[in-house]
Order: sequence, then C-alpha cells, then structure tokens
Amino acid sequence: MSAAAGSDPCTRCGACCAAFRVDFHPACLASREADGVPDALTVPVTAQLVRMRGTDAAEPRCIALRGEIGVAVECGIYDRRPPPCRDFAPYAPLGMGDEACARARRRHGLAPL
Ligand code: SF4
Ligand code: SF4
Repeated sequence: MSAAAGSDPCTRCGACCAAFRVDFHPACLASREADGVPDALTVPVTAQLVRMRGTDAAEPRCIALRGEIGVAVECGIYDRRPPPCRDFAPYAPLGMGDEACARARRRHGLAPL
C-alpha cells in the first residue's frame, strides 16, 4: 500500500494489508535497525521470521492499517513498513496492479485496477 494522496488508488484500497501474511526477517525490526518496524506491532514466528500482527487472522488485517478498506486508508508506519510491503505491486500507485493486487482487491469485493 502507498501513502501518497491524490490519484493513487492505494489510498482508497488497502486490500493487500488485509489479505496476506506479512512476514520478514527480524533484522528489519526497530530493535535491530534504525527506522525499523516497531517490534510491538509484530509477532515472532521463527528465529528467522516475524509477522505483522493481525495478518494471519481468519479475517486478516494488519495492525498498522488505518481507515476503511475500499474507501480511505493509510499505513500507520509507512516510512517504517517492512520489505514485503515496499515490494508489493510497485506500480499499483500508478494504477497498474498485478495478479496479487487483483487477488487482494477481489477478496474485498473491489475490481482489479
Ligand atoms: S491491493 Fe493493490 S491497489 Fe490495493 S492497496 Fe494493495 S497494491 Fe494498492
Ligand atoms: S505495515 Fe503498512 S503497508 Fe504493510 S501490511 Fe501493514 S498497513 Fe499494510
């Protein structure tokens, strides 16, 4: 998801933040690197993996997501979001989604970009 306002469709979506597990290496935590992901927003999975809280719930929703999916959203830790979020559907903010983006949007009743 992107934080830029205006024509960015991600600011009116947020579906990917409520569709997939978001796992990454603990080296990206705030306790391990400056500007890392706040540890309290994650749960440990293995020694080599942590997960954004809420993303493995039956109805997944990342704890850092603010707003209403499909209406107006933002990532509460945008500048500190983990690598999977930075890498996800990189052209979606420009209106060009990919298959994973489309899958997340369909899950929330939104048409693909
Ligand atoms: S599902 Fe696609 S359009 Fe929606 S926030 Fe994620 S990347 Fe953006
Ligand atoms: S950290 Fe931010 S961009 Fe990543 S899943 Fe959570 S709300 Fe979405």
